[in-house]
Amino acid sequence: MTLTVLMNAGPWLSVPPPGYGGIENVIATLVPELRRLGVRVVLASVESSTLPVDERIAVFPDGQFHALQRPYNQVCGVSQAHLSEVVRALHARDDIDLVHDHVEAVGLATLAAMGPDAPPVLHTLHWDLAKHPELYGNLDGGDRVRVNGVSASQLARAPEALRAHSVGHVHLSTPLAVDADRHAPVAKGDHVVILGRINPGKGQDLGARLAQETGFRLVLAGPVGPYHRPEDLAAAGDEARQNPDVRFFYDQVAPYVDGDRVRWVGTVAGRERDDLVASARASLFPLRWEEPGGTAVVESLSLGTPVVATARGCLPELIGHGRTGLLTEDERELGDLVLAAAGLEPAECRREAARRFTPARMAQQYVELYDRVRAGVTKP
Ligand code: UDP
Repeated sequence: MTLTVLMNAGPWLSVPPPGYGGIENVIATLVPELRRLGVRVVLASVESSTLPVDERIAVFPDGQFHALQRPYNQVCGVSQAHLSEVVRALHARDDIDLVHDHVEAVGLATLAAMGPDAPPVLHTLHWDLAKHPELYGNLDGGDRVRVNGVSASQLARAPEALRAHSVGHVHLSTPLAVDADRHAPVAKGDHVVILGRINPGKGQDLGARLAQETGFRLVLAGPVGPYHRPEDLAAAGDEARQNPDVRFFYDQVAPYVDGDRVRWVGTVAGRERDDLVASARASLFPLRWEEPGGTAVVESLSLGTPVVATARGCLPELIGHGRTGLLTEDERELGDLVLAAAGLEPAECRREAARRFTPARMAQQYVELYDRVRAGVTKP
């Protein structure tokens, strides 16, 4: 019997995303593999999503990233409109065997409230949950609603109420791990890269200061709030500072950005992003939050670039210290570790990614979780 899954990607970005987009990148990686395994996928996203699927549900023509309020879980008109359409579709048809939801607490609460006639829901947690215990406080929906984490450390830190509904964790894979040959090894340059949205938790301020103090070239890539290009941020003027990530950038990061040793290049996408990471001596993650899943960490390994990071969140699960990267609990050591990373083998990083983080493996693990959720089995 063919399994039909409604994959709820949410209204924020198209799938695959135009550039930045961790959750959307993961969905874009997972869905083709699921379909290869015979799963029918109905994608709830935005109309501009180009990912091949069996059917689509969309309210918005395009990604509504500009309307996103952090944390993801805040109820706003955009998420309500999107979720209403998903709920309407679920009421109107009876061929959906399972909802695989990625839209954080808002999505889960809405789906849980649908009552016993709705299909079972597997909700993938993408956030650092210890910081937001209130969000998942009321998990109505009983046995029909299950959650999975994206790392063991994320689940271990999750509120008890959530862990009681957990069916385990599945490490992320990304489009960059789809085909290792697509990315033949490229020559290493002399730069270090931090890839990710500019945010205090991701620690770009610390990375930029270390680059200036230790003397390595650093490229910061990623959006600052809703601004993807330096010229867009400059044009936005003072009003942009209402966004906390914009304030963080101006106050904490920009003082170290000199356009030479430390550069902010905005959001990079596609080949440009891949080459930037693949040619870096190291990817730096000076984290100040408990990184839940680390898409960009897995991507770096896939591209043969060792990872230097604070040992927070899922990093110790993903990185073999001394083999595929260097981790420390003392952020003052990061500068020295960046220099030491030159001794690590790019080929070993690629091997590790090809062994542990393939899209096929991620899809297989999800199919097993789908079976367990449908059978009402909770414990891993
Ligand atoms: N990304 C990108 N271009 C950028 C910055 C980020 O394509 O300039 C992608 C990156 O490759 C990764 C995702 O956005 O797939 C970020 O996901 P991650 O889980 O690392 O960060 P978070 O979801 O916490 O923002």
